[in-house]
Amino acid sequence: MAKATPLQCPFCDTYLRSPIDINFKDMEFTGGICTCRSVYLLDRSARNMGETYMDALTFLCRGDYDAAMTLDPEKYETVELNYNYQSNTIGSRKTGEKSCKLIFARLKDRAPDE
Ligand SMILES: [Zn+2]
Repeated sequence: MAKATPLQCPFCDTYLRSPIDINFKDMEFTGGICTCRSVYLLDRSARNMGETYMDALTFLCRGDYDAAMTLDPEKYETVELNYNYQSNTIGSRKTGEKSCKLIFARLKDRAPDE
């Protein structure tokens, strides 16, 4: 069994705070942004993975759903982590423990207008 460790960005190892409720344009979700420009979204039930992935990509595209839908899979990378909301740790998968998922997504290339 993997040992639980504090929440860290899988791309740059920065320690991250717990996901927070975010309202961005038409979007509402629980998550955050890392200093390396990756975004992370919480899926509390771990049963809405498709939707959470879509939200993560849409957030990466600054709320542009159409851009997210047509995003080239070569242009971004995603990582999925088991997450414990109570202790803000990742990696633990104890039986009976409420398990959430965190979806991390990052664009590989910088947006040209930045
Ligand atoms: Zn990061």
